[in-house]
Amino acid sequence: MNEKLAHSVIIGSGFGGIGAAIRLRARGHKVTLIERLDQLGGRAQVFEKNGFRHDAGPTVITAPFMFEELFDLLGERMADHVNMVPVAPWYRFHFADGRAFDYGEDMDALRNEIGRFNSADISGYEKLLAASKAIFDVGFTQLADRPFLRFTDMIRQIPALMRLRSDRTVSQFVNRHITDPNIRKAFSIQPLLVGGNPFSTTSIYSLIHYLEREWGVHFCMGGTGALVRALEKLMQRHDIDIITGADVEKILMKDGRACGVRLADGTEISADNVVCNADPPTVYREMLPDDKRAKRPLPEALTQYSMGLYVLYFGTTKQYPDIAHHTIWMGKRFKGLLGDIFNRKKLAEDFSLYLHRPTATDPSFAPEGCDSFYVLCPVPNLQSGTDWSVEAPKLRDRIVSALDATILPDLKNTITADFWMDPTDFQRDYRATHGAGFSIAPIFRQSAWFRYKNRDPHIENLYFVGAGTHPGAGLPGVLSSAKALDRLFPVSAASSIPPQTRLNQAADITKDAAE
Ligand SMILES: Cc1cc2nc3c(=O)[nH]c(=O)nc-3n(C[C@H](O)[C@H](O)[C@H](O)COP(=O)(O)OP(=O)(O)OC[C@H]3O[C@@H](n4cnc5c(N)ncnc54)[C@H](O)[C@@H]3O)c2cc1C
Repeated sequence: MNEKLAHSVIIGSGFGGIGAAIRLRARGHKVTLIERLDQLGGRAQVFEKNGFRHDAGPTVITAPFMFEELFDLLGERMADHVNMVPVAPWYRFHFADGRAFDYGEDMDALRNEIGRFNSADISGYEKLLAASKAIFDVGFTQLADRPFLRFTDMIRQIPALMRLRSDRTVSQFVNRHITDPNIRKAFSIQPLLVGGNPFSTTSIYSLIHYLEREWGVHFCMGGTGALVRALEKLMQRHDIDIITGADVEKILMKDGRACGVRLADGTEISADNVVCNADPPTVYREMLPDDKRAKRPLPEALTQYSMGLYVLYFGTTKQYPDIAHHTIWMGKRFKGLLGDIFNRKKLAEDFSLYLHRPTATDPSFAPEGCDSFYVLCPVPNLQSGTDWSVEAPKLRDRIVSALDATILPDLKNTITADFWMDPTDFQRDYRATHGAGFSIAPIFRQSAWFRYKNRDPHIENLYFVGAGTHPGAGLPGVLSSAKALDRLFPVSAASSIPPQTRLNQAADITKDAAE
C-alpha cells in the first residue's frame, strides 16, 4: 500500500478524535473526520442561549503543551490562534461548615491556606506532592502515551506500579499524608474529574496533583470551544475532510480488516484504517458486524462504568464577583454520597457540585452586568434506573435552592436562560453506554493493558482513541491516547513532522508499530 495515499477515517470529533486526525495527517495520511453532532468537540461542544455562552464540558486545561504539539505537528504555532491564560486560584472549595479554601499555584499562599485548617498538613502536603511526582514520572511521563497491546507490556510495568503502590486507592494515598477532614476531601476529588470514585480509583490518578503543579491550570480565552474552533480551522487548512451531522452506523469489514464505514443515510466511505473516538462499548455492541474477530475485549458483565453527570447551564441577571472561576461546593456527606453514586447507584437528595463561572476570566460569556455559569453534579449513571424526566427538574430546584442559601444569594430570582443535560442526553447525544460521563471507570483492572486498547487485538487496522481507551478520560488522557495511536504507525517519508522530531521518534514508533 502506498502510505501517502493511506486513508484514515476517524469516527467522532472529541479531543481524542481531533488529536488522532491531526497526528495521522502529519504522517501524510488522507484523513476524514466524521461527527454525528452539528459541531466538533464532543463533550466540549458549546451552547448559546439568550446571549449566554457555555462550554458544555471541559473547562480546566492542565497540560497546554499537548495542544501546542498538535499545532507544531502541522508546522503552526498555537499562540498565533488562541490565548491560554493561567487561572488563580485553580479551585476555591466551599465546605459544608461554611469555610472556604483556595488551592492554587502560589505555594506560600497555599501553605497559609492549609495551615488555617491544620498546620501539620503543610508538611503532609509537601510529602503528598513528592509522592505524586514519583507516580507522575512513571504514570504520565513513561506510560500515558504508550500503547499497551500485549500483556507482557503490562507485566514489565508491574514492579514499578507495585513500588508506587498503585493497588492503593486515591483516598488511601491522600489520607496517609493529610489529616484534616476538609483538606482530605479537597485533595481526593481528582478522580472525579476523570469519572472515578476516590475510594476505589487506583492511586495512579494521584499523579494529577503533580500534573497541575508542573504546568498550572489554564483557561482558553473564548472558552474550550474557541480551542476546538482553532483546531477545526487548523484541520481545514491542512486538508482534513470534516463531515458533521453524520452518524456512523456500521464499520465495514472485508477479509478480517476494517474497510470503511457506512453512515446512517447509507453513504459508504472506504478506508485503509478506521479510528474510533466513539465510546468503545458502543462500538463493539452496535457498530461492528457479527464477526468472530470483532470480539469485545471487556465483557459487559465485568465492566464498571464511570458515574453520570447532571449539568445545569444558566445565566444570572447580576454578577457574583466573589465566586472563583472554578468553584467546588461540598455537601455534608462525602464517602456516603460517593457510595450512593458509584456502588448503590441511587440518586441521593444531597450532592456536591463543581461550579464553572467563566465570566470570572472572560466577560464575553455573558451580556454586560451578568454572569454565565454551569454547575456539574455527579449522579449515578443510567444503570440506576432513575427516571430523569421526573428527577431532573427536581434536582434543578434542589441545586438552585442550595446555592441560593449559600454562595449565590438570591439565585432563585437572578437565574435566567437555564437548561440541563442529564445522563439520558449523554446516552443520546454522544452514544455513551449507560449515559456515563467518562466512559468506563478508571479502576486498576480497567487501566493500561486492561483498558480498551488503542488497536483492536484481532482487527489490525481498527484503532481506538478517547476516554474509554488507554490511558483514560480528561483532556491530557484523551490527547495521550492519540499519541499512543500515533506510535502504532510507521514513520513515513510523506510525514510533515519536522525531520529532527521524526528521527527522535522513529526508534520508539517503529518498535511499537511492529508489535
Ligand atoms: C461536564 C464535563 C466536564 C469536564 N471537565 C473537564 C475538565 O475541566 N478538564 C478535563 O481535562 N476534562 C474534563 N472532562 C472530561 C473530558 O471532557 C473528556 O474526557 C474528553 O473531552 C472526552 O474526549 P473523547 O476524545 O473521549 O471524546 P468525546 O468528547 O466523548 O467525543 C466523542 C465524539 O464521538 C461522537 N460519536 C459517537 N458515536 C458516533 C458515531 N457513530 N458517528 C459519529 N460520531 C460519533 C460523539 O458525538 C462525540 O462528539 C469533562 C467532561 C464533562 C462531561
